[in-house]
Amino acid sequence: MSEVSIGFMGGGQLGRMLGEAGKKIDVQCMGIGASDSSASSSCKMFSSDDTDAFFDSIDVFTFESEHEGLELASQVNARSIPIRPSAEFVKIAGDRFLEKSSLQSLSIPTAPFVLLDPAMNEQDLSTKLKELFENKSLSKHGIVIKTRHGGYDGKGQWVITDSSTKSFDQVAVEVLPAIANPGCIVEGLVDFSIECSILASRSTSGEMAYWPLTHNIHEDSILQFSFAPITEVDDLDNLENQAKQIANTICESNDYIGTIAVECFVTENGLVVNEIAPRVHNSGHWTIEGCETSQFEQHLRAISGMKLGDTSLRGFSAMINIVGRDINIETISALEDTYVHWYDKEVRPKRKVGHITVVGKDVKDRDERVAQVLALL
Ligand code: AMP
Repeated sequence: MSEVSIGFMGGGQLGRMLGEAGKKIDVQCMGIGASDSSASSSCKMFSSDDTDAFFDSIDVFTFESEHEGLELASQVNARSIPIRPSAEFVKIAGDRFLEKSSLQSLSIPTAPFVLLDPAMNEQDLSTKLKELFENKSLSKHGIVIKTRHGGYDGKGQWVITDSSTKSFDQVAVEVLPAIANPGCIVEGLVDFSIECSILASRSTSGEMAYWPLTHNIHEDSILQFSFAPITEVDDLDNLENQAKQIANTICESNDYIGTIAVECFVTENGLVVNEIAPRVHNSGHWTIEGCETSQFEQHLRAISGMKLGDTSLRGFSAMINIVGRDINIETISALEDTYVHWYDKEVRPKRKVGHITVVGKDVKDRDERVAQVLALL
């Protein structure tokens, strides 16, 4: 196998885990980012002043984030370096309005939404929010205002329900700076039982691979736990089929290449898509130890033109995110079938600094291992 070089903009933990996966299949990963960034432990890093050397070194350009790297795409294009997935699709997935409009055009269920007119003044905005909330045209459960770009882990979001304490005028004051730039949408709140994601990969030859649906638990809008396979729903086969169809439709219609994550709500009427990550995703970290082929290795295989790997499960997995705190790595790593990933990032509040995966032989075994880890946190 000849070595392939993959490049991306960024130096975070996703790049780090891509770099680690690459070592197994003779793929070298390269990032544009700080030389001491999280990704630097497994990837060759380039400074943003040295893009020529970066472009000369890579065979394929990809994305570590939907918010970084798009501005480089025209330069990458000019050098005839393939961009996988396409910059056009990454732009759509990074913009909540374009993303939901695109899903709607493919008849994929999403939360009902409207775009807020960027020219509105504070009073118009307050009136509009009041009207959307009170006439329940989007949802009877309430509304959530979201910035089009850049909001993640609950940032750039304002939820209004019957129990909200802020007045519409107060919310309008907070939202106003965002409605012109980057723009905002208002979504109806979806009534769901659990949140889940489907991870899939599509290769250059159009081959698709899927992992089982993953159950995701958020706290404060930040992912805390992922469990796979899902054990909480009765009609799992139907849900998995719907999820695969959704992922397949998105990938086929956009000629998507690489790993993709589609985050969904499980409702009485099946899945409703919340958002698309055009890249490897936090809810797929468990695949590193929990599956024969991880989301990271599969992404590299897909974008390098290789055959996709086997996504069979190795057991019942759980992933615990470590957010804004230190842990005792040695003690937790000593537990059986427990794998600590520490990202070597400065610990700051609400910042994801590591994750732990446990793989059990059945649900009971998995849950016991999770309890052991939680007792040590
Ligand atoms: P997001 O940044 O869109 O992933 O939203 C973060 C979290 O907020 C989601 O994981 C959900 O728990 C919740 N959320 C976002 N949008 C909605 C919605 N339309 N209805 C209900 N919950 C939502």
